Amino acid sequence: MGHHSPLFYDKPLHLVRGEGVWLWDSEGKRYLDVYNNVPHVGHCNPRVVEAMHRQASTLNIHTRYLHDNIVDYLERLTGTFDDGLQMAMLTCTGSEANELALRMARFCTGGQGIIVTDFAYHGNTEAVAEIGTGFMPEARTTKRVKSFPIPDAYRPLDGLSGEALAQAYADRVQQAIDEFHAEGIKVAGILVCPDFANEGLLDVPPGFLEKAVAKVRQAGGVFIADEVQAGFGRSGRHFWAYQWYDVTPDIVTMGKPMGNGHPLAGVVARPEMIEAFSKEAMYFNTFGGTPVSTAVGMAVLDALEEDSLMQNAVTTGAYMAEGLRKLQRKHELIGDVRDLGMFFGVELVKDRATKVPAQAETRRLINLMRDKGVLISKIGVHDAILKLRPPMPFQTEHADILLHTLDEALTQLTEEVTA
Ligand code: PMP
Repeated sequence: MGHHSPLFYDKPLHLVRGEGVWLWDSEGKRYLDVYNNVPHVGHCNPRVVEAMHRQASTLNIHTRYLHDNIVDYLERLTGTFDDGLQMAMLTCTGSEANELALRMARFCTGGQGIIVTDFAYHGNTEAVAEIGTGFMPEARTTKRVKSFPIPDAYRPLDGLSGEALAQAYADRVQQAIDEFHAEGIKVAGILVCPDFANEGLLDVPPGFLEKAVAKVRQAGGVFIADEVQAGFGRSGRHFWAYQWYDVTPDIVTMGKPMGNGHPLAGVVARPEMIEAFSKEAMYFNTFGGTPVSTAVGMAVLDALEEDSLMQNAVTTGAYMAEGLRKLQRKHELIGDVRDLGMFFGVELVKDRATKVPAQAETRRLINLMRDKGVLISKIGVHDAILKLRPPMPFQTEHADILLHTLDEALTQLTEEVTA
């Protein structure tokens, strides 16, 4: 896999089977999956498997022919958006979706400059690697990308809070715009994950995103919401994470949970943008939106709806968050708990006052959890934020297992550290 594709755990985990929120390794050991968002409606969801099998037994072909599945699916998908976002193009990966979004934004605005956070990951193609400020060397050399500090209320810019903090971060977006202009580069847009998931599921100061997007639009740029991780109802109350804010994107990209593990991703945008772009520019994706992929995509939407999984994200999500906060009161190591529906970030610190990141402890903890049969992972600038993002059918009984195991692991870790 190479140096830059490390496995999650100190000892590799060899998985062979999955069902719902459970996974089994090659030795028959069972794990509770509290990490994976790709199997959105559950590992091997029977509805999805059946839809895939049925369509694969009937017809599968590339996307140059008319097929009812793609029309029906896109009508259903665009129905989840606000008015004005009613046209879509399908791809196979989130990276391709972001690549297409960048092309479209640059084409429609005539600008080149893209603004992202200073710890961004949006995929792996060349243009998308260029905006991967947290992970990709390309981002440090290009002139087409500028970044602003991650909008984090736990580690706030200049110690500010509330409205002043939101304004301070928005001012840093304005600074990026001004720097582009000083270098003779026109702004094409701002591209962010509305959950700031790879940044550590941040507690975003209210009003920040609205202010930042207004500044970018004033400079002639567009707002691209990367919903590759955040979308498809994970945040509970809203289908798309941008809907928590008072601002509608011009372009939305999506992927990961969209096909429950089958490679399905896409872009939804203002129709006039897609029309202007596709009049002049060619975009063809052989496997993006095949009859099988769109049958799978439809089954994912059916499962979300019929199993009331967004409602479950609200109720089980609140139960988990409460349990995590209880653990925070007991374990000094937990500096901050953040939650949004069925998505949780738990920031570990060596000292609550100084907030020194507990990096080694975080790594040890996720390995301990794995040994105890619960899969979680970590993220963030300091790699010291637990990332908990289970499949959506996760129930309170599963939350109890996670909370109990985490409590045990934290106690063991504290004993090890003080021994
Ligand atoms: N955007 C975000 C926010 C992501 O987290 C990822 C994947 N981790 C991508 C885009 C890229 O998606 P893919 O791996 O499907 O290309």
